Amino acid sequence: MTQPEQPPPDRISLDEMTSDALDQLYTELEEARAEQARFRTMYDVSEARVNDLIEERDKLSEQLTTMTDVARSNRRHVRAIVPDLEAATQRAERAEALLREYVSLANVTHQYPAMGGHDCLAENLTCAGCALRDKIRAALDEHQEQPGPPTR
Ligand SMILES: [Zn+2]
Repeated sequence: MTQPEQPPPDRISLDEMTSDALDQLYTELEEARAEQARFRTMYDVSEARVNDLIEERDKLSEQLTTMTDVARSNRRHVRAIVPDLEAATQRAERAEALLREYVSLANVTHQYPAMGGHDCLAENLTCAGCALRDKIRAALDEHQEQPGPPTR
C-alpha cells in the first residue's frame, strides 16, 4: 500500500509518451467509440424486435383465451342438449318398434278375412289398411337411412 506508484508493466509512463504514441491512443479511442455506436444500434434494433415479439405474443395469448372461452361455451351447450337428444332418440326408437309391430300385424289381418281382411268397400278400390301399412313401411325404411331431427 505504501509502495511508490509504479505503472503496470504493459503501460508506458507519461514521460516516455511520444506524439505518435498519443496519436495512436486517440485513434484507438475513436475506433472504440465507433464500435460502441455500432453496438448501440444493434441493441436498439434488437430491443425493437423483442418489443414486436412481446406484442405479437400478447395478441396470440388474447386470441387463445377467446378461443378457449368459445370452446368451453360450445362444450356446455352440447352437454345441455345431450339429455334432450337422448330422450328424443329413445322416443323415436320406441315409436319405430311399435310401427314395425303394426306392419307385421297388418300383413296378417289384411290377408285373412277371418281376421278382418282388406277394407275395400268396392272392387278396384285400394285397401286403406294396406295403403297405411305400405306408407309406414316406406317411412321406416327411409328412417333407417337418414334419421330426422328430434322432436320435442
Ligand atoms: Zn288390406
